[in-house]
Amino acid sequence: MLEVKDLEKTYESRSGVRVKALKGISLNFPEKGMVFILGKSGSGKSTLLNLLGSLDCPTGGEIIVDGRSSKNFSNKDFDVYRNNRIGFIFQEFNLIDNYTVGVNIALAAELQGKKASRSAVDAVLRELDLTDGDGNTLYERRINELSGGQKQRVAIARALIKNPQIILADEPTGALDSESGTELYELFARLSSDRLIIIVSHDTESAKQYGDRIIELRDGTIVSETILREKGQIAAPDYYGTALGKLPLKRTLSMGLAGFGCKPLRLAISVILAVISFTFACFATVSATTDVMTAELKTAYKNGAKTAVITADSVCESYTKYSDGHTNRNTFECTPTLTEEQIELLSETDDCTVMKIVPSWVLPAGIGIGNLGRRSAPEKYNPYNNLSAGGFRRVVELNSESGETDACLKPDARLTVECRLPQNFNEIAITDYWADMYIRFGFADSSGVLHKITSPDDLIGRTIEGGFTICGIYSTEEDKEWLKQYDYNEYNYEYVTNDYLRRWLDGEHSMSYAFVNDGYCAENFPDVTTYDMLYRLSGNAAIDKKLIDKISYSYCVEWLPEENLGSYTRLDYSISAAFRTRYAGYVAATEFLRDELFLTAATIISIVFAVFSALLLMNFLFADMAVRKRELGILRSLGARTFDVVKICMIESFATACIDFVLSLILTGVACVILNAKYSFGLFVVGIIPLASLLLLCFGTAALATIVPAVRLAVKKPIDVINNK
Ligand code: ADP
Ligand code: MG
Repeated sequence: MLEVKDLEKTYESRSGVRVKALKGISLNFPEKGMVFILGKSGSGKSTLLNLLGSLDCPTGGEIIVDGRSSKNFSNKDFDVYRNNRIGFIFQEFNLIDNYTVGVNIALAAELQGKKASRSAVDAVLRELDLTDGDGNTLYERRINELSGGQKQRVAIARALIKNPQIILADEPTGALDSESGTELYELFARLSSDRLIIIVSHDTESAKQYGDRIIELRDGTIVSETILREKGQIAAPDYYGTALGKLPLKRTLSMGLAGFGCKPLRLAISVILAVISFTFACFATVSATTDVMTAELKTAYKNGAKTAVITADSVCESYTKYSDGHTNRNTFECTPTLTEEQIELLSETDDCTVMKIVPSWVLPAGIGIGNLGRRSAPEKYNPYNNLSAGGFRRVVELNSESGETDACLKPDARLTVECRLPQNFNEIAITDYWADMYIRFGFADSSGVLHKITSPDDLIGRTIEGGFTICGIYSTEEDKEWLKQYDYNEYNYEYVTNDYLRRWLDGEHSMSYAFVNDGYCAENFPDVTTYDMLYRLSGNAAIDKKLIDKISYSYCVEWLPEENLGSYTRLDYSISAAFRTRYAGYVAATEFLRDELFLTAATIISIVFAVFSALLLMNFLFADMAVRKRELGILRSLGARTFDVVKICMIESFATACIDFVLSLILTGVACVILNAKYSFGLFVVGIIPLASLLLLCFGTAALATIVPAVRLAVKKPIDVINNK
């Protein structure tokens, strides 16, 4: 069953000194019985036992288990061998000091995948006389509260609970008084009736009394092998399985987390750096993944907006290749163009209405401004006046039948005379807001003469600049009264200093519009082919956005060398449509959080902090592992898989990662909430992508920081880990 052939072990110290501890040993152990290995100190007994227990590797020769050479063993085979077949009793006990007697013993069984019930452990403890005066077992005692003799017996109990086929004991009676020593030998003698027990000892007398076989070593060689009794062959016992037990999750967790408090400052600094890093990274992802248009639309719906303007952004990329071979690339913005074709596309949809906005440059210069532009300081800084400063912001073509519904208009309630939309191209309808402005500042007729008026009624039928006659005054869907709260009669800086208000005024406002008859532009300016559009929102961001995508288009113009003086030019136009609502200003205010500079800065900051935090975490784990190396080595000697050890190390860094994750998420969330509150906007949302990247970052760095120390520990021989080599 167990055999060694030409076994050699040469230790080499760091300084290069070589010690030949075993010089070619061959032995054939019986299936069962008690084998004593005797010899002076330094003769190589412990070395031999460690090799038999596969706690260390031989430098020559082989160990043969059931006819299979250890040379052909995989790492897993070694783990299985240690786990299932060997019970090792160390000379120095190698118990885990922080745990109770019970846990130390139960651990060995758990590693075999067995449940170590309290009663099973107690039975072994009683057998080894590990009880107090009252007859209770020492199950709950901590290891460091035990005497040397008691520790030795706990170490023995830990080997016995595994019910192994082979027990290897290194001077097991060393710490026991002679009476206990005798009891132990008697116990071993009983147990050896169906298993192999190999005992390293100085005690020639006991060896002769209890041993079935005595092997004597000197200077790493066998000087004699005496067979006292032959216990004969036994049928191959099935003590052992071939599967490996896993360390139960609960135990893995508690072992992993035990080291958590060992270097609190280092851990805290690592966490702080990590949280700074991950928050920056996460917020940058939030920023970069912001869906500006959806956010703006949703805010618009939330605030009850019913219409929005669709405008086009047109970008042209030019590429020129000159006849001498050099090339030139350029990108520039060009006149936004939404064409009749796109209006057609938009009009096909049922859930919305589109209204053409007459391009301002075809209208008489300054229409609607009158004398409103010439205003003194208090009026100039009065936010209520601001929307009228440049004349009508937009002039919309409306069908006189359906226009009121399309543009969400209602006749001004103050009017006592007829109010209607334009029915011919000389008529114009204005808003109640604009009427207020005319009442406040007077209005200029088509020859520029200023008239004072007192009521909206006075405006109906009057002719303004450009020759338009006012036929109606309408209130729009917008809350004019909201802006009116900023109507100041005296000079103040509110407009200049109130960021919120300025952004608001930057947006689209239907109260600054005027309305002309449908077809005005086509009739008077047939060459005009490009428009903005007023659009009845559907109230569903997905539908509204789809529409925008539908009308975005691109085209390309090429000039071949023949027609272009020998150089080739290519122009790529891309026309994309976008909504403009009165909330656009808020988006603009947060633009810096999406621009490349901010994103690059955030990325750099987060990388720098992430590196420092990972290094610190690694340093923390190294320090922690140095402390618990012995413990992990003991686990390995009991047959814990490499992976169990790695897992225990991982638990700690993953727990750190969890803390990092939660804190970073909270910080990012708070940043988003603050920004959203400031800009009254659902602009910053921690969506799937930021969440996923945060998870990846936290656990990725933790894994990276753990891999090196954990693997370094895991690949070592158990005996080296225990002895801290
Ligand atoms: P024993 O158990 O019989 O007292 P050991 O097997 O512990 O003897 O040691 C055998 C020889 O190997 C001794 O000379 C000892 O100094 C040496 N030795 C044991 N372990 C190591 C080690 N890890 N590194 C270097 N030399 C060692
Ligand atoms: Mg020894």
